[in-house]
Amino acid sequence: MTFEANTLKKAKRILAKYKLCDRCLGRQFPGKVMNNRARGTSLRKAVDQIPLNSDSCFICSHLMRSLFDIGRRAVDATHNYQFSTFAVGTTISPRLSESEDALRAEFKLRGGETIKSEITREVARTIARETGRQRSFGNHDIALLIDPLLGSTQVTPSSVFIQGRYTKRIRGISQKRSKCTDCGSGCPSCDYTGLSKSPSIEGEIGGYLLAKFGGSRVIISWIGGEDHQSLVLGIGRPFFAEVQKPMKRWPIMRAKNLKNGVRVTGVKVLPGPPTFSPKFRLRVRATIDLVEPISKNVVDRLEASFTHKEVTAYSPNKRRYFRKMVYSVKAVNIKEHGFTARIYCDGGLNIKRLVSGERGEVSPSVSEVLQTQCTTRKERPFDVLSVALERSVSRVTQIAQETPITRRYR
Ligand SMILES: [Zn+2]
Ligand SMILES: [Zn+2]
Repeated sequence: MTFEANTLKKAKRILAKYKLCDRCLGRQFPGKVMNNRARGTSLRKAVDQIPLNSDSCFICSHLMRSLFDIGRRAVDATHNYQFSTFAVGTTISPRLSESEDALRAEFKLRGGETIKSEITREVARTIARETGRQRSFGNHDIALLIDPLLGSTQVTPSSVFIQGRYTKRIRGISQKRSKCTDCGSGCPSCDYTGLSKSPSIEGEIGGYLLAKFGGSRVIISWIGGEDHQSLVLGIGRPFFAEVQKPMKRWPIMRAKNLKNGVRVTGVKVLPGPPTFSPKFRLRVRATIDLVEPISKNVVDRLEASFTHKEVTAYSPNKRRYFRKMVYSVKAVNIKEHGFTARIYCDGGLNIKRLVSGERGEVSPSVSEVLQTQCTTRKERPFDVLSVALERSVSRVTQIAQETPITRRYR
């Protein structure tokens, strides 16, 4: 290899004043033909300098000698994690960069790779070669932060996003975990979690996902909610979940019966966070109590009044009105003091309020149509029969095609 006269002259001047290892020498003279170390070795030979042995390198103090070991230690740190892509970052002592910068300023050296970049690149190369995984600059399964001087590697796995469904076959279990009643943020009785230990669907699913994925925390996004006295039947209610810092990314997931009558099915890992707005429709079976007896003909009026009917509801939380569709209401099992209503409607409509009317805040309501006060039964207000995400509604109804209602509004 021949070098330009100017390069040789500079290399000679540098080596006369500073001790540099081959990598740190070669890195100061950018070129495509050789890697930094090979270029450093050639330059040293060309200017007739003996190799650097025990003397410490001015820039790296021999750190570059252990690059391969640093890479191997990083590989060891990944052993507990499932991943197919990784990102690498390096923290180096500012002294190293400052020495390099000072040298470059003194000898007017331009365009060379930085020491930090070389360490990162070499360590990433070792990891890719040893694990067969791919370095990624965008989406990655794990991020490695390497401190070459301390020899430590910090592994941060990216969240896994999950979709699944649950059914619930026991009444009296709330959907969300409730707050600890003894404290605001943590106390001995709640193991400093701030959350009540009473059973919930969130607790069951969260515990299951944590065990499967070995993560630090699970955040569940609900596609609607039900009363704690409701059942969720059929194929269940969909949910999305984010598992933070998972050790596993592709565990084997099967339908699983959890405690308290909760069952999860169809759990699958999504390519990323869900991006669509989760619009959905649901079918419920509501148990309705009447204050005064009413005739069967009057109850049958419901069907005509709620066929593809727009309902206006006031949200006290959001302090505004919104509109939802009720596609059908069918009254069955009609008794003098109550009946069962099968309701098919948009998600986000509060079923208890749709029945009671909540002093006119929901209109029309079952109470309004029947012109008598109706309420859902306290101990079994309504059960969820099916929940269909809007993006799959057309597909579902194509398969089902069982009622004129679904055909009409497909
Ligand atoms: Zn060096
Ligand atoms: Zn507490």
